[in-house]
Amino acid sequence: MTDLAATPLPTLVQTERRLIAEEDAREQIAYTAAFAKNYQQPMLVMSRARLQRNAQRFMAALPRVRPHFAVKANPDLEILSIFRDQGTCFEVASIAEIDAMLALDVNMETVFYSNPIKSPASIKHAAANGIVWYCVDTPEEVEKIARIKPDAKLYLRIAVSNEGSSWPLAGKFGASPQGVETLIEVCKKLGMQLSGVTFHVGSQCTNINNWVEGIRAAKDIFNRLIARGFNPELLNLGGGYPLQFTGQEPSIEDIAAVINPELDTLPDSIQVMAEPGRYLVGSAGCLISQVVGTATRDSGRWVYLDSGVYGGLMELSQNFPATLVSQRTGEAGVWTMAGPTCDSIDVMGKHRLPANTEAEDIIFMPNLGAYCTTCACDFNGFPVPIMRMVD
Ligand SMILES: *Cc1c(COP(=O)(O)O)cnc(C)c1O
Repeated sequence: MTDLAATPLPTLVQTERRLIAEEDAREQIAYTAAFAKNYQQPMLVMSRARLQRNAQRFMAALPRVRPHFAVKANPDLEILSIFRDQGTCFEVASIAEIDAMLALDVNMETVFYSNPIKSPASIKHAAANGIVWYCVDTPEEVEKIARIKPDAKLYLRIAVSNEGSSWPLAGKFGASPQGVETLIEVCKKLGMQLSGVTFHVGSQCTNINNWVEGIRAAKDIFNRLIARGFNPELLNLGGGYPLQFTGQEPSIEDIAAVINPELDTLPDSIQVMAEPGRYLVGSAGCLISQVVGTATRDSGRWVYLDSGVYGGLMELSQNFPATLVSQRTGEAGVWTMAGPTCDSIDVMGKHRLPANTEAEDIIFMPNLGAYCTTCACDFNGFPVPIMRMVD
């Protein structure tokens, strides 16, 4: 297997790619700038045109793959309806997300329930509302679903490498090779339809090999399912498609160039889907935040923003890549960045901002359309970012 992510790109291409990433950030800042004028509180500005373009680009790159937007990335109803109108389907994980599908009036047979561990009440709610497909990765879950929805179609989540992901998900979910054998036996015994395979490479994944590994493992399981009398009909490639922060990340076209040939070897009887979350919404949203104050401490210079770990920037505390653009120009300095609350975990690592940064400076943060407002709470009385849509 060639490791594309680990292969250094020629310098020229690197520069070109960095410029594309910068251009992307500039475009997001441009449509956000008007909102910075009478700044009141943190705000996430989302572009409708960009949401549409992201969905179209994903579908053009991966023609065999039906996208199911992972609702948790940004469950705003207008955003969901834009994706629905582009022909995107959906993936849900909770009763509230199922109810969002009812509000959108989509065909519930196209909604996939990909949370590997679901409460009995939520399985009942899903079944009562016409959801057919359910993810499993343990025998206990198969037994639970068998009692409530014996005619469900199950897809098996297998563990794959999360190496090269900024937000790894391995460990909590995914059946091991031994676990797969046990699950096949349990489904056989209970007469449950084990009809598909899925995996999740981790979020913001820059290692294309993880998808290749998942697809090859799934093909192997399809053969074993057929040998045991099952009728496999689904390959679900999960999420993880990355945004461009530095330009070093593989584009959706780079990923497609590697995985499309793998998908070409699947029989037509296998429908292929994916669950992009961050990719579809992330680059459509730019957060504007304001500096509350700066501080000089023994550990160096600190900058405190009005949004932090509790205010939509939770991922930044885990070394997630970020682009920070200040309205102030000037030579860059290294700052430890923190949120406004009195909690000591509300710290987001070291970042570059102008050395002369001061209270009330506005900071633009592109690529925050996913997992921002949806992961924020008003702890300590600081407001969560409000969301505004622009054309
Ligand atoms: C969160 C999640 C996704 C979306 O992941 P992204 O990294 O945002 O693309 C897809 N599938 C499942 C099962 C998830 O839990």
